[in-house]
Amino acid sequence: MTAELAAIDGFKVPTGLLIGGQWSPGRAGTLPVVNPATENVLTEVADASPEDALEAVGAAAEALPRWSATPPRERAECLRRAFQLMTERSEQLARLMVLENGKALRDARGEVLYAAEFFRWYAEEAVRIDGSLTVAPSGANRIMVQRQPVGVSYLITPWNFPAAMATRKIGPALAAGCTVVLKPAKETPLTALAVAGLLAEAGVPDGVVNVVPTNKPGPLTQAVLADPRVRKLSFTGSTEVGRVLLKQAADYVLNCSMELGGNAPFLVFEDADIDAAVAGAFIAKMRNGGEACTAANRFYVHESIADKFSAKLAAKLSELRVGPGLDDGVDLGPLVNADTLSKVSSLVDSARADGAEVLTGGRAPDRAGYFYEPTVLDSVPADAGILSEEIFGPVAPIVRFGDQDEAIELANGTEYGLVSYLYSSDLRRALQVAEALEAGMVGINRGVVSDPAAPFGGVKQSGLGREGAHDGLLEYTETKYIAVEW
Ligand code: NAD
Repeated sequence: MTAELAAIDGFKVPTGLLIGGQWSPGRAGTLPVVNPATENVLTEVADASPEDALEAVGAAAEALPRWSATPPRERAECLRRAFQLMTERSEQLARLMVLENGKALRDARGEVLYAAEFFRWYAEEAVRIDGSLTVAPSGANRIMVQRQPVGVSYLITPWNFPAAMATRKIGPALAAGCTVVLKPAKETPLTALAVAGLLAEAGVPDGVVNVVPTNKPGPLTQAVLADPRVRKLSFTGSTEVGRVLLKQAADYVLNCSMELGGNAPFLVFEDADIDAAVAGAFIAKMRNGGEACTAANRFYVHESIADKFSAKLAAKLSELRVGPGLDDGVDLGPLVNADTLSKVSSLVDSARADGAEVLTGGRAPDRAGYFYEPTVLDSVPADAGILSEEIFGPVAPIVRFGDQDEAIELANGTEYGLVSYLYSSDLRRALQVAEALEAGMVGINRGVVSDPAAPFGGVKQSGLGREGAHDGLLEYTETKYIAVEW
């Protein structure tokens, strides 16, 4: 395999499209990858046209019969080697990710290890694809149920977790015996290409993993979805784009998994351990600089403890060092691009106009790069506009509530339902509230829920299906029922 390589931070990174095991130029030219800390172009990568993407679908379709017939143990061993390689190269990958995404090195290191765990987990799951055999109630025959790979899968990933969102899809797809075409976000193609390079090194055969970065995801995706060789769409991104893709996929009755936006509430009851709640709030808000679908977006705090909680959270956020993600001691890097920065700024301005009090931050520092200060907004009115949108930045709006029913109603008052967090020292109450919250995941006295071994996903308009756990593997299988008489 030959590759166009760019030397970035002393690390050689592929910049071509990966189709059928070959690195190739894009028919649409190249697209620039920008460092959000400096606004400078890091390098150019190949820009795929719809025709390139269909070639990638062809390569995936050609590789499918052999890969799906490869013994599960062999598929598992490829994934296990990929885990090993990713762990060994974690520092290089983390630094590369900082340069194209902006996140602080500590977050990037955490992500690479988390991302690699999906390869390890699905290496372990590849040999546990089960079925069943039962006797029909009539006694006439046996009901045999078998799981088969769904087939060529088209994977679309966002820029906020460029490694983990790719491995969370590639891991189970390959474990199940599917082949894939990955379309990474245009902001962060380098991490995806580097991960694909590692998979090839780990022994994944040509054509099993194809990667097509593009500047124009709309037309490319329309062409891919219309190709009858494609049997599955797995998308992670905004609810807005997810809705568009579900409509397009409906024309082909395509199997879809959708990991969409969130608007996570973070509830702190009067019986909570306040220091633990502040520590949990800090991580739920600031992990990945607030650019996470799981980021706490709305803090609902009981009125009797709200002053204490707000002051402590503001003190913690104001200590953070903001700067380029690779600089020593930096806790918070820039946002990914100018659009995200302007959205975060305008949400904070609208909250101010709605009567919120700025305890810390509240502005973009005067420097190059898409930086925004860590911000705590107190006494936000429960109907403020900032609470109905995904902020996707380092901003914590705090609303006060009076009783448990009100807190649950406020938390559920959104079209989203990805994750909710709650802090309480009363386990009975915590479990009752967790059951009442409309969310696919709940963190009780915990600010992080993500785990490769746990089913990740949302209800309502936060998505369809689950990633991670055994559930994530089943998303890449079809159930076949065979009626047998003997
Ligand atoms: P986005 O929806 O703008 O883009 C996501 C991906 O879709 C990118 O690869 C983009 O190129 C592609 N895309 C955009 N328009 C498209 C179109 N018309 N046709 C086909 N593809 C298209 O989202 P983003 O800004 O990259 O990521 C942030 C969003 O992702 C947030 O809403 C966040 O909550 C969500 N997200 C969800 C999860 C989850 O697991 N639920 C995880 C991470 C991020």
